[in-house]
Amino acid sequence: MFYVINAVCFVIKADQNRLTDRQQYIFDAIQSLFGEDIKENIVLLFTHSDGFPPKNALTAVKEAKVKCAVDEKNQPIYFLFDNRQSETLDEEYQMKQDHSWDLSYKGMAGIFNFLDMNKQARLKTTQNVLLKRQRFEENISEQKAHVQTMEQKQHELKQAQDDLEKHKENKNFEDTVEVSYRVKVDIDPAVAKQAMCCTVCEENCHYPGCWWVKNISWCHVFKNDHCTVCPKKCHFSKHVKEDKIYVTQKKSEKRINEDLKKEYDDNYEKSLSNVNKLNEELQELNNKKIKLVMEAFNCVEGLKTLALNTDSLFTLKHIDFLIEKMKEIKEPEKAEELENIKKRAESNQARHAAQHLCFI
Ligand SMILES: [Zn+2]
Ligand SMILES: [Zn+2]
Ligand SMILES: [Zn+2]
Repeated sequence: MFYVINAVCFVIKADQNRLTDRQQYIFDAIQSLFGEDIKENIVLLFTHSDGFPPKNALTAVKEAKVKCAVDEKNQPIYFLFDNRQSETLDEEYQMKQDHSWDLSYKGMAGIFNFLDMNKQARLKTTQNVLLKRQRFEENISEQKAHVQTMEQKQHELKQAQDDLEKHKENKNFEDTVEVSYRVKVDIDPAVAKQAMCCTVCEENCHYPGCWWVKNISWCHVFKNDHCTVCPKKCHFSKHVKEDKIYVTQKKSEKRINEDLKKEYDDNYEKSLSNVNKLNEELQELNNKKIKLVMEAFNCVEGLKTLALNTDSLFTLKHIDFLIEKMKEIKEPEKAEELENIKKRAESNQARHAAQHLCFI
């Protein structure tokens, strides 16, 4: 089912040189609202008419690019009124008032005739315009919410990347430890000449005071051929007698702290997978953004073909936002198309302003 409409009447003063900004806005809005199917049902009503052709007003309408029904000579269809018939005037004005009455009567008859002759407009296209416009508005607010979601996600990603960088910098899990080791040194001759030491345990098993020279096993630290001093109780054959003893020395050594390393590896894994996850999510959000921007662009294109006012006011309201988004998704040609719509609208506004200056 489609709604129908008989006529849309634009009321303008017959002596107007230009439309007021308010009129211009209202006419633009109406023409943005309706589809091409209403054009033949738009008529102009000129008030305050003196009965002569409303040349100025017609020029103003033409300048303002108001779309309306035209006659066979391609001239706008209009009706004249001078609504002063209800005023009480002295007799000397009677003729003028009669004329005013006749004029308005003729105008009214003209409208009725127009309504009889003209077919009703089925607002199929207009309905489509309204639906597209509604979708366009929804799309824009969806896009604005989407911008916030993406900013939040980008913020999260930045943090996750920072975390990952910090991990890379903190790669030091080496600990410096002090280790002791045994080393052979010359004996202090003031203490003794020789010592009996275990080569396995690196222990000075008999020092000082070991005097056995012939057979080491004769030393009294051995019992049943095994040493009673060194920790492993080694066989006497593992022992030597010489002018050196073992002493303990200390040195610093770097060792990998396995716990730290594991913690580092785990955290690194976690941060890396977080960054990857966020990157994927951001990619999906970006795909959705491209989809939304393209949909908005198609709405604009659709409205351009459907709506009576090709550069719909509703489009213009959001044009800067959409141009910016179009550039962001790397569609320079489409961004330029939108720029052109904006430029056209701006030059129209400049034209109106210029006219305004000329006539004040
Ligand atoms: Zn000994
Ligand atoms: Zn020993
Ligand atoms: Zn030993």
